[in-house]
Amino acid sequence: MSFLDPFTTEHNMFRKTVRDFVEKEIKPQVENWEETGDVPHEIFRKLGDLGILGLRYDEKYGGSELDFWYTLILCEELARSRYIGVGVSVMMQCEMSTGALQDYGSEELKEKYLAAAIKGELLGCLGISEPNTGSDVGAIRTTARREGDIYVINGAKTFITNATIADYVLLAVRTGGQGPGGVSFIVVPTDTPGFSVSRRLKKMGVHCSGTAELIIEDCQVPATNLLGEENAGFRYIMEHFQGERLVLCGFALGAMDVMLEDALAYGRDREVFGRPIVKYQVWRHRLADLMTKMTAARQLTYLAVEAINNRQRSDREISMAKLYTATLVKEVANEVLQMHGGYGYMEEYPICRIYRDVAAFTIGAGTNEIMREIIARQSGL
Ligand SMILES: Cc1cc2nc3c(=O)[nH]c(=O)nc-3n(C[C@H](O)[C@H](O)[C@H](O)COP(=O)(O)OP(=O)(O)OC[C@H]3O[C@@H](n4cnc5c(N)ncnc54)[C@H](O)[C@@H]3O)c2cc1C
Repeated sequence: MSFLDPFTTEHNMFRKTVRDFVEKEIKPQVENWEETGDVPHEIFRKLGDLGILGLRYDEKYGGSELDFWYTLILCEELARSRYIGVGVSVMMQCEMSTGALQDYGSEELKEKYLAAAIKGELLGCLGISEPNTGSDVGAIRTTARREGDIYVINGAKTFITNATIADYVLLAVRTGGQGPGGVSFIVVPTDTPGFSVSRRLKKMGVHCSGTAELIIEDCQVPATNLLGEENAGFRYIMEHFQGERLVLCGFALGAMDVMLEDALAYGRDREVFGRPIVKYQVWRHRLADLMTKMTAARQLTYLAVEAINNRQRSDREISMAKLYTATLVKEVANEVLQMHGGYGYMEEYPICRIYRDVAAFTIGAGTNEIMREIIARQSGL
């Protein structure tokens, strides 16, 4: 394995499978999904049939027990569709709403939810953010009160990806006192009486990753739906943010590659003052700068993926990779849009949409400010 190219023949074959799927099943229809606001259930079933929804999960539940390079490849290839919303929706299913189930779910929960999610039969979402708190996860107010064999849940969540299509939500709830030590993680079926998707949210980008607010009123859920131990949820959430952050790195790497390809094609074709744009030194140097930073972003991401593969806790490296790639993808989008001139501002050019889609990268899965906090703390500052 070389850090310049860590991918084996098997990894490259998997990349081709995903790329073909994107060409055949996603690209011809995705514009419609951007209008409706959701990726259709049928796509998840097809991904399930191909074994793509359980890449790193136990074979016992239908997973493939593969390393994280496969997950990174999946993210890159989904982003190469030039519609980041599809990637966000798919990865919510196969990483964000299932990772904690695999690691902390009881046998019963894994058989009921994880196995069905890996097949694409049940769709999941992740409910952490609330109207009053996002970055400060330890301050959530949604409560789960234990009454005999059930929890009674009350509260509200917002910004929840795939909430519009989900059959279950991994919900962060308060079971104990104030602060991170009172948070638990529980599986709530979305057809539970008292549970409602109160409002679909209109967003700046990633339009087909249905985002909504949830209201939870006196929802009764079996106590056996708790993940792991009561009041240990904050730790589970923080651990699982690591995979989610690398997912965003994968999207950023794929998106940057296609943006650069599009910029080079456009800049070679479009002449200004008698010469193709890319022949001007100002653009050649700007592109050289971007390519240099993109290589650095890729290597930082690879470092973090390798740590995850070796089961090392690597919050610092992952936060560095997330901070750097999320910031850079916005810079690349800005430069590539500028190179397209007025056409970059027109919807018929992909850069127009990608520019909007990547705006959320420095916010989702932990903001840039939170990444800097983690890096500083882990560096003893
Ligand atoms: C497209 C999209 C999809 C999302 N999907 C989901 C989902 O599926 N499930 C889910 O639970 N959430 C989801 N989120 C929510 C996301 O996780 C939060 O938006 C994010 O964690 C930030 O929280 P917040 O928006 O409440 O901002 P706040 O926490 O209120 O922060 C506001 C600003 O203050 C800064 N800030 C916060 N703390 C500090 C600090 N200590 N020092 C300095 N600055 C600070 C932040 O960086 C930010 O700039 C999604 C968000 C988006 C945009």
